Amino acid sequence: MAVLSRLMLRFRTSSTIRSFCTKYSEIDLTRAASAEALSSARPVEDSKEKGRNVQWVFLGCPGVGKGTYAVRLSKLLVVSHIATGDLVRQELSSDGPLSSQLAEIVNQGKLISDEIIINLLSKRLEEIQAKGETGFILDGFPRTVRQAEILEGVTDIGLVINLKLREEALIAKCLGRRICSECGGNYNVACIDIKGEDGSPRMYMPPLLPPPNCESKLITRSDDTEEVVKERLRVYNEKSRPVEEFYRARGKLLEFDLPGGIPESWTKLLQALNLDDHEDKKSAAA
Ligand SMILES: [Zn+2]
Repeated sequence: MAVLSRLMLRFRTSSTIRSFCTKYSEIDLTRAASAEALSSARPVEDSKEKGRNVQWVFLGCPGVGKGTYAVRLSKLLVVSHIATGDLVRQELSSDGPLSSQLAEIVNQGKLISDEIIINLLSKRLEEIQAKGETGFILDGFPRTVRQAEILEGVTDIGLVINLKLREEALIAKCLGRRICSECGGNYNVACIDIKGEDGSPRMYMPPLLPPPNCESKLITRSDDTEEVVKERLRVYNEKSRPVEEFYRARGKLLEFDLPGGIPESWTKLLQALNLDDHEDKKSAAA
């Protein structure tokens, strides 16, 4: 636990985004958080300074709300939020060098290769660096160990936050999703209330109900059936376990069990990261 809390204070001052030309063969896979690096860690008071050295990854299964927390945290720390899905969409809608190649892959329903994703990601990291920033939160990447290895060769990830939610809550949450067929609003009709037992506390997640004028227009996504949701989770768990292990072995993994809905989880997450939301209050008072 002591190592973990020190790890959370490990804000590097010299982290830079290395050249994208790093060949895979040059990647030093043994590089991990050394004791020396951990002991030289220091808390940084200024939030701008702190944000500079945040190079974090958010992991979590589909439906866990990873994007929500990654976006909130990136706003709080004033760092870029980088979601690979957004990178692909942006490239597709641009006339960038990869857009036609990407369109072909997407239209054929094929998987986008690691190389393309890494290429888009490196471009974004270079843009961030060009603005004199270094901090970012990665959302939805890496998905495989190979991607994690490539990423290690490109930049220095300081912390990997693995968001977890009890499976019964997760399934109920996915099955409760509704979209308004008229305005496209996202809602959730599931009211999750799991009794505490065996030392685990009660979990309560209220529904996110639509306003009256959307109520009659709600639809369910065709792939939000119990069978599909469970299969999605199985595939995710199978693929993500080695990625979690990769970061655990490097002393970078922070497991975070979501205790409930957003307000409760957000507070606990900030505590786990040694971040106070008094920064919110301070900036509100300023
Ligand atoms: Zn609506």
